[in-house]
Amino acid sequence: MRIIIVGAGPIGCYVGQLLKKRGIKPLLIEEHKEIGRPVHCAGVVGAEVFKEAAIDLPWKNFTKNKIDGAEIFYQKESFCLKRKSVAYVIDRELFDKKLGSGLDIVYETKFLGLEKNNSGYVIETDKGDFHANVIIGADGAMSRVRDAAGLNNGVRYFSGVQFRVSTTIKNEHFVKVHVKNPFFSWVVPESKNIARVGIISSNPYAALNDFLKEIKLEGEILDKFGGIVPVGNCHLIKDNIALVGDAACQIKPLSHGGIFYGMRGAEILADCIAKNRLCDYEKIWNRKYGTEIRIAAYIKNLYENLREDDLSSIFNILRSSVKKIEKSGDFERHSAIILQILKDKRMQAKLGSILWSMFKTVFQKNTNREEVV
Ligand SMILES: Cc1cc2nc3c(=O)[nH]c(=O)nc-3n(C[C@H](O)[C@H](O)[C@H](O)COP(=O)(O)OP(=O)(O)OC[C@H]3O[C@@H](n4cnc5c(N)ncnc54)[C@H](O)[C@@H]3O)c2cc1C
Repeated sequence: MRIIIVGAGPIGCYVGQLLKKRGIKPLLIEEHKEIGRPVHCAGVVGAEVFKEAAIDLPWKNFTKNKIDGAEIFYQKESFCLKRKSVAYVIDRELFDKKLGSGLDIVYETKFLGLEKNNSGYVIETDKGDFHANVIIGADGAMSRVRDAAGLNNGVRYFSGVQFRVSTTIKNEHFVKVHVKNPFFSWVVPESKNIARVGIISSNPYAALNDFLKEIKLEGEILDKFGGIVPVGNCHLIKDNIALVGDAACQIKPLSHGGIFYGMRGAEILADCIAKNRLCDYEKIWNRKYGTEIRIAAYIKNLYENLREDDLSSIFNILRSSVKKIEKSGDFERHSAIILQILKDKRMQAKLGSILWSMFKTVFQKNTNREEVV
């Protein structure tokens, strides 16, 4: 069986390693000339990324800093969530390169399209055609494999930009997250004197410059990069084509982190292929992670539509629930925190009134439309 993985990002490489471990040797096609560059990630991963990895992935080899919590800001207010060694700030280039080591990869080869024939698929690239029985699309947020296979089921795209800034950081083990509806920005300490400052926004470059001024963060900008995060739904398989990682929208809808869920998707996919049961991949993924992602995506939708006064009230409720959040909080599985917070009577009342006013707005719009007709 010939398997071609399109995209040698962390998730494509991880699937490659898992298949290799089972005696299946895939070929990877990568458009860039090396793995891990350009970097397009803040590089914050939960400790579980290393603990739950199915291959040897020692965190010490990639870690630049250890994170013991986060300070959450909204306008002039803030609160702090603490948990020792909850996450790491990694060197994404090294991480990706480690995942790619020993794999069969053709570089500077761009996937352009695919065609089905009697024996499998013809993969068209800018360096000629390749043949495969199974294609794995691990080609990131803007996946061409997803589009070529007709698997795009309504994916939304968000833009992110990050600067690496040389500056002095007071508490280098705490991430700062600034909530600004409908998006957010972050200051991730890479070390005592380098911060990764980024934003997800509809106009991220301008918004990030404004944010730097707002938090009065000055210093030399060492690097800049931009990237896309996908949020939404897509099917994961069609015949012998499968998607994984960002290509499959296997990300946390609230924070947009994709490494943890991409790795879980890769494990399920490799397992299904090894058992000759590719057809089970989507079913097993949905059973294990579908609800988790749907809950977080629902909250994300709600968040994007909140009025400032509602956001302010919710922020205050969260601020008074720090102990509960710290106790139930899970860096990778956000539904645990969401469900815990929803038990709070004040939150239930607030959400009830928000949903009621949203319902009234929709109802009002429909009534007006009918009157015009
Ligand atoms: C600003 C920003 C900050 C982020 N911060 C975090 C974070 O802190 N923590 C976290 O967990 N996640 C974060 N993410 C998300 C994370 O970067 C992704 O989830 C992760 O990189 C997904 O890995 P992947 O292998 O699925 O896709 P990618 O890393 O995108 O890899 C896809 C690979 O496919 C290749 N490729 C694409 N198209 C083609 C083609 N046509 N032909 C051949 N090759 C192709 C690309 O060159 C690339 O090597 C962030 C994303 C952004 C944009």
